[in-house]
Amino acid sequence: MAAAVDRYDTLVVGAGFAGAVLAERLASRCGQRVCVIDERPHIGGIAHDHLDDRGVLCHRYGPHIFHTRAPVVWRYLSQFTEWRPYEHRVMASLEGRLLPFPVNRRTVNELYGLHLADELEMSAFLDARAEQREVIATSEDVVLSRLGRDLYERFFRGYTRKHWALDPSELDASVCARIPVRLDEEDRWSLDPFQSMPRDGYAALFERLLDHPGIDLRLGTSFEEADREIDRDLLVYTGPIDRYFGRRLGALPYRSVEFEMRHHHTPGGGLVQPVAQLNFPSEDVPYTRTTEYRHLTGQVHDWSTVAVEHPVADGEPCYPVPRPENRELYRRYRRLAARERGVVFVGRLARYQYLDMDQVVGQALTTFARLRRAGAVAEAREAA
Ligand code: FAD
Repeated sequence: MAAAVDRYDTLVVGAGFAGAVLAERLASRCGQRVCVIDERPHIGGIAHDHLDDRGVLCHRYGPHIFHTRAPVVWRYLSQFTEWRPYEHRVMASLEGRLLPFPVNRRTVNELYGLHLADELEMSAFLDARAEQREVIATSEDVVLSRLGRDLYERFFRGYTRKHWALDPSELDASVCARIPVRLDEEDRWSLDPFQSMPRDGYAALFERLLDHPGIDLRLGTSFEEADREIDRDLLVYTGPIDRYFGRRLGALPYRSVEFEMRHHHTPGGGLVQPVAQLNFPSEDVPYTRTTEYRHLTGQVHDWSTVAVEHPVADGEPCYPVPRPENRELYRRYRRLAARERGVVFVGRLARYQYLDMDQVVGQALTTFARLRRAGAVAEAREAA
């Protein structure tokens, strides 16, 4: 007997930011009936958070720090959460010292015992060490041309090799170009005007996003199952694009991370690290960074949980490997995707792109606006 078929205006694959935002817009703005599925047992995708065994709020798939410079994204998400102001800071653990990272004037002064007084002196210091490069093609080129060899080797080379299992000379310039160099003493990770964490956590934010009578949620359900059981006019697909096409052109490679959770007894609510994130650039240390969640969440607790990151080849698809051949393979999948009718591909996995949460929310809002302009949303409603 054929399986019973349910009918919706839109089927959304994935309950992460991309899928949840589109589901919310389609249900609340267009009156659509939307079915959101996810093969995980929870909402929120990889931004999901939960209380661990000791009651500490943790991000299951790695620390997620929210910041944005897009007022539209901030205003949109503010409908679903209150915020707790939080500015992220990182220090690099180097030869027994903790130094501000990204490299700023204080990093250089403390590392070399200098007294560079202002931005001009810092700039002159870096200019004297920077290596001239005709073409900036790789991440090694980027850092050597900005900071010179010593800072490159101390802060970037080992960390990058551990994180990617590739030398910076084998990686696109874009990877290390994301990390700024500061001539002043600014030590915040991001300079975005909006920097805060969802006050009640990410899972609570997603519950409110998806709390609409037009939205049905099916967890623990893969697209491959739902495809047979759910009839729809529009498919919003936020999973891996190569998986959608049965990996017929080959698998798009990702780098993954294993999280070792360390639990510290902190009676009275003390913290273990001076800042939320410590980076370990040396290749003698087997992990890349440690993050203490209670810095991010502001939770007061007698225990503190620190996530220790061990980069690995296989596992959760975390970081698309930015190399020209992978971009070319993605472009070939993209050409197949362009021929699909009634399907939109949104989010980090469908676009094979590292995107911050705010960028994914922005992408989902733009996709919704485009669907509306194209009349695709109205068509789905008429057919329903
Ligand atoms: P996802 O959250 O991955 O959601 C996709 C969902 O689709 C998943 O739940 C998956 O289970 C589901 N799915 C996929 N395929 C199928 C299928 N076939 N059937 C059913 N379900 C399927 N961003 C920041 O702004 N700040 C940070 O500090 C930050 N830290 C990060 C740390 C790590 C380790 C990583 C990997 C990313 C980090 N990000 C951070 C990026 C952030 O996680 C993403 O931008 C955002 O969560 C992506 O949302 P998404 O909906 O595109 O994807």
